Parts: sequence; structure tokens; C-alpha cells
Amino acid sequence: MKFIAREKTLQELNIGGSVVTAALEEACGVSRSKITEMYNELGDLGDVALACRQTQRLLAPPSPLLIKDLLSTLRKISVQTGSGSTARKRSLIVNLMRSCREKEMKFLVRTLVRNLRIGAMLKTVLHALAQAVFISSSLKIYKEGMVENLKEKLQNFSASVLDAYNILPNFDLIVPSLMGKGIEFSSSSLSMVSGIPIKPMLAKITNGISQALKIFENKAFTCEYKYDGQRAQIHKLADGSVRVFSRNSDDTTSKFPDLIKIINELCKPAASTFILDAEVVAVDRKNNCRLMSFQELSSRGRGSKGSLIAVDSIKVDICVFVFDIMLANGEQLLGLPLRRRRKYLKDLFGDGRLGYFEYAKEITIEKDDACLNCESTLIKLNCFLGDAFQSSCEGIMVKSLDVDAGYFPSKRSDTWLKVKRDYLEGLNDSLDLVPIGAWHGNGRKVGWFSPFLMACYNPDTEEFQSVCRVMSGFSDAFYVKMKEFFSGDNILCKKPAYYQTAEVPDMWFVPQVVWEIRGADLTVSPVHQAAVGLVHPSRGISIRFPRFIRSVPDRNPDECSTATDIAEMFSSQTRKMDVASGD
Ligand code: ATP
Repeated sequence: MKFIAREKTLQELNIGGSVVTAALEEACGVSRSKITEMYNELGDLGDVALACRQTQRLLAPPSPLLIKDLLSTLRKISVQTGSGSTARKRSLIVNLMRSCREKEMKFLVRTLVRNLRIGAMLKTVLHALAQAVFISSSLKIYKEGMVENLKEKLQNFSASVLDAYNILPNFDLIVPSLMGKGIEFSSSSLSMVSGIPIKPMLAKITNGISQALKIFENKAFTCEYKYDGQRAQIHKLADGSVRVFSRNSDDTTSKFPDLIKIINELCKPAASTFILDAEVVAVDRKNNCRLMSFQELSSRGRGSKGSLIAVDSIKVDICVFVFDIMLANGEQLLGLPLRRRRKYLKDLFGDGRLGYFEYAKEITIEKDDACLNCESTLIKLNCFLGDAFQSSCEGIMVKSLDVDAGYFPSKRSDTWLKVKRDYLEGLNDSLDLVPIGAWHGNGRKVGWFSPFLMACYNPDTEEFQSVCRVMSGFSDAFYVKMKEFFSGDNILCKKPAYYQTAEVPDMWFVPQVVWEIRGADLTVSPVHQAAVGLVHPSRGISIRFPRFIRSVPDRNPDECSTATDIAEMFSSQTRKMDVASGD
């Protein structure tokens, strides 16, 4: 269900627990107070729905609920808007519920409330899809005597499906192509479509300029300011419209009418379609377009679904800093080196417009100067890093220009490195973690949650692994907000099997939000289980003196810092712990 909502040809389902409860009341004839009582006991609306169905007497078994009918009803639900939409949604759900047999009821309701609780993440679904197509093509494989190295072939096939999804995250387009091509399918069977956001390329952490220089030795590279704003993937569609997507692939167009205007004014009329990668940053126009913090930007209104916020209501001005282009006039540019992609960018947008549309500030180091003992290069890089800090940037990005310099969607690759201020402060980087539980606060914090138990994600095992307790950096208002947020459907009745920790908080939360956490350093821990098995066989990694920095709204819980990120940060920490002896 999560991926239905993410497909940008479709809308979010936007159904709250109360609509589902009302539908359940009507479909099963159970009172609301009874449903609440059952929910308090079972802790899951799907289990409640199943129990309601099991006690219901039906005169005749319902006719089968077919997947295609279910999908078409979900699509109908997703496009209901405006007055009376809640009643229409409820009535569609009641019809679905009436067609459910046995356990179908449980999974229908869990689907509607977008909490299937089967531990299957998107990656698992993609692997399963690849495996299903691969196996169903096995007759051809046997006929053609391709039986050798089947496991490896399946792995490669799965990787192709994943790559295809990263550039075209839309099952409506991938599945028919997969079914049509069978094992002949490869990621190049499909190409990007403007209007469908691709998974953005990500950067690796380094512990400073010397490490970056070592990685790029004898290769031409570029350094760009790492702006502290919000990532924006800007699409020009074939119909001439412009759309903006967040790092998380959410459509944020309504938030940026001024950005749309400037793009329309600047891009050459010949540009039919394009996809750009950029950072939108808040600027103070009265003060020489001084860059402002991410917090300023996040105070900008969001606009309602489908309609842009009014330009004259905008209180925070922005400048977009463009750093990449992935599609130009229908031509997919992912495989071209960055140096050539930049040329496409400039051909489309010329010199840009100061304070409104700029290219990320950069310096280029050609391969002959890319060596550790080249003093002038070191000085140049350090000055550039200092300038970036002076300009309120987070640090710099170091990117390969010619060798392996393609755009790799969703990959955190060695060809994009980041050097951040945090490195100078001890820990190489902050972590993006998910609150998975909390204790009831004491003293001044009675009535709130404190501390929160924070976790990273391990995509290989699909588990959230605890990293630390955090109890500093929050404002009182934030505590109040979180007390309201973590209630009802956001509380789990017991620890789920996919939470790995030796901590026992008072409450377990549904993984819903991501927070940026910074600390002094990383240490091996017998309690926390982050990256267990990667650094130490039975102990995890924990962060010392953690403090909350900010919410990261444009990231899903399964896109938070991973176990591998934490293991890598641990090993690049200059003051390493003696792993063998633990703490
Ligand atoms: P962080 O919290 O450090 O921003 P992240 O996980 O969001 O990390 P990374 O890929 O690790 O993303 O770092 C790159 C991020 O930095 C991008 O997501 C983008 O929002 C931002 N950014 C700012 N300036 C640039 C730039 N010149 N090139 C690439 N990314 C940039």
C-alpha cells in the first residue's frame, strides 16, 4: 500500500482511523464503543476488524473480492476530494468490507490504515517481483540451457529491477514491461519520465579534505558548496508544466510558486522536458541575498493539495542552487560524466539569475593537481571549505567529474563525498534516526515523553536497531506536540519483532518520523544494537551525548541512517574504541 501512495500517477489514500472505524461499524454492525474496547485490548485495527467479522452472521458468503476490483476501489478512494468526500470514502470502504472473507478483513483494514505489519519493505517487494518473473521465465531458461549460475543470474536480474525502480518508481509502468520482457528485462528497458521523481543520488561521509583527496587521487574532481536547505528535484513535463519533488519524492510544487515562475522565465524555449537536481535555500533579499538556515525555509507555508500558495503571501524568499541535470529534452543523461551534464545545464539555463537561480558555487581540480602532496591544492580546498562555512553552508560536496562520474539514482557512492562542519566538531556527521519508543518523563517533564529511544534502519534485515536514548535539544513546545503525536494508532501494544534493542521503554512507537541527532562520538554498546555484527559480533554502536537537532520531514523512516552508515562512521572516527574490549 505504501507504494501505491508513492506512485505519483496516484494520490495518497488519505484515510484516517476514524473513517475506517465508522465503516467497520456499518459493515459489521458493531458499536463504536465495542470497537474501541476491542482496540484497547488488541492494539491493532486489523485484528479488531477480523474479530468483528468472525462474530458476524452472514446469510450467504460474499462474492470473491478480486485484486483488480480492490485496486480499482482504492484508486477511487484516493481521488475523492472536496465536500462529501469522507462519506463517499466510507461507503466505498463499507462495500469492500462486505466483500471480505475470513482474514481478508484484517489485511484490508491494515492496508487502509497503511500499517500492514508483515515486515515487508519496498526492497523486499521488488526482489519478490523480480523472483516471480524470473521463475516464471524459467522454462525459457531451461530450454536455452542457461541453467548455470542461476543464483547469480537471479541476483543480477533483481538488481536490474531495483535499478529500474530507482529511475521510474511506478509499478504501473514497471510491471507491464517486466511481464512483457520476462528475463530479457533490464534497467535500460525503461527510461525516466518527467513528472515521475527518480530516487536521488546520495553522498558518502568523509572525515575531511585529506580523505576526499585520497579517494580522488589522480582524478579530476569538483567541490561545490553543500547548501543547507531542502533538496528539490525540478521537472519540466511534456505538457509544459513544472513540478518540484522533495528528497522523499513528495510533490512540493504548491510550496514554490516563485521557483516555478523563475524556471519558466529562465529556461530556453527549446527545452521540452528536463529533470534537475538542486537545493532550495532561504535567502534574505534585503541583506545581499544572505543564505539563511534550513529552519527559516521550513517556516514557509505548504499550500493546499493541487493549489500553489499565493506569491504575495510568501514571507521567506528563496534561491535555487542547481547542481545536476538527469534528463534534457527527453534524453537520459545518467550515464554521462558530470562535466558533460553541467554543459547541458548551462545550455538550458545560461547564466541563471543571481539570488534566484544559481549554479552551486564550485571549484574544479584537474587530475594533475589531484594529489595529497600538492600543497596548492590543499590550500585551495581548505579556503573553499572555509568560504562555504562563512556563507552559512553545511560544508562542501566533492564529486568526480570524469571518471565514474555518472548520476547513480539512490546510490550513496564514492563519487559523491561530503565534508561537513560536524567533522571538525568530533563526530563526522549527524545521524537521521527514528524514535521507536519512549519513557514517561519525570520531574519537569512529567506528562511528556522523555527520553526517546532512537533507532537506525538495517535494510538487509529490515530491522530498526536502537542507537541511543535522547533527552536534550527539545523545546517544551516540541515535547507537547510529540505527546499528542505519539498516541492512538501511533502507539504499538508490544515490541515488534523488527525492533532490535535491549532497552525496554514504557511505550513502543510505530516508526513514523525522522529526527536529526548529533552527538560527541560513537561507542560500542551492549544495550544498543545498531550495526550489530558489522563492527562487533554481538554488540551494537551507540552515540554518546546525543542531542536533538531538528525534525527531518522529507525523509521516510526506512530512509534514515542505516546500520552500514553507522559502521562506516564508527570506523572513520579518529578516536577509535578498542572494539574487542567493548565499553
Ligand atoms: P545531509 O543530512 O548531510 O544533508 P542527506 O542524507 O540528506 O545528508 P546526502 O546525500 O548524504 O544527503 O548529502 C547530500 C545532500 O546535501 C543532498 O540531499 C542535498 O539536499 C544537499 N546538498 C546541498 N548542496 C548540494 C550539492 N552541491 N550537491 C549535492 N547535494 C547538495
